[in-house]
Amino acid sequence: MDFTFKNISEFNDFFKDEKTCYEFLETQRWNGVPVCPHCATAKKPYTVKARGKFIDIPSYRCSERACSLPFTVRTGSIFEGSKVELRKWFQASYEISISKKGISSVELATRIGVSQKTAWFINHRLRAMLTETAPELLTGTIEVDETFVGGLEKNKHISEKVKRSKISRKLDEKIVTPKTMVLGILQRDGKVRTFVVPNRQADVLNPIMRANVETDSRIISDALASYVELRKDYNHISIKHTVGDYRTKGDEHTNNIEGYWSILKRGIIGTFHFVSPQHLQRYCDEFAHHYNTRTTTTQEKFLAAIKNAHGNRLKYRDLTPNQPKKKATLK
Ligand SMILES: [Zn+2]
Repeated sequence: MDFTFKNISEFNDFFKDEKTCYEFLETQRWNGVPVCPHCATAKKPYTVKARGKFIDIPSYRCSERACSLPFTVRTGSIFEGSKVELRKWFQASYEISISKKGISSVELATRIGVSQKTAWFINHRLRAMLTETAPELLTGTIEVDETFVGGLEKNKHISEKVKRSKISRKLDEKIVTPKTMVLGILQRDGKVRTFVVPNRQADVLNPIMRANVETDSRIISDALASYVELRKDYNHISIKHTVGDYRTKGDEHTNNIEGYWSILKRGIIGTFHFVSPQHLQRYCDEFAHHYNTRTTTTQEKFLAAIKNAHGNRLKYRDLTPNQPKKKATLK
């Protein structure tokens, strides 16, 4: 399927109806040969005639007798179990691809024409897709640092407080939002990865370092003692900031990761206003994704997102573990 677009108008012209979207996804997922998502047989399935408003949508029934289950290309993907048209999901993927700092569910709801609750759900499902499934090890010169995100609103300096109405600010002050620690690992001229961690002890930080950074790489950190243990396997440099002295020796600094923290914090406050610790890892992943794909075109981003749509499925109850388990109703 020939497909190029330069802007949202060309994008919408191409994905003009549900049928086109289904066929596009089928090409991406199956390359023309439908595979049953229930039993994985590639035996040619029966074509099922869909009814009502789904009349145009390619639907199948597995021809393997022991299975015989119905499916479409949505089955087993993040698009499964949602009443929202595939076309809107595609538009949402596009909107997320072009946003530099993420998009709030209120904004997404307006742009694709769904309720805010539905947009929130779509946003989180798509965000779950942004996680790299088979990440490569970071290598070369690595900057590592930890930071706190969140914290008690009333303890923040006035300039850091989220701007809200007086009434909601009063309410906020009563909410204790625990400060959440995030570990950041940044390869110079490469990718960044961030992890929500319970504390900055060696037994918490170093296994993550080892899992993400190639041995013998050069690691630059602040004077935190936890990292010293890494010297066995890495070229570790710790820089001491004495009070008021931020001069750096050559390229021995952590300026890039510190710069990244300010983008992350501004983005979270500016776009999302408030992120609960429970969802912070996913927001962090989204920011890292935007940073890591800063030289990728929108079209490449969109295609990569669509390719990731299978096998990274997030259910509504995974998003809201504290709420009663009821079936997700969308729209
Ligand atoms: Zn089957």
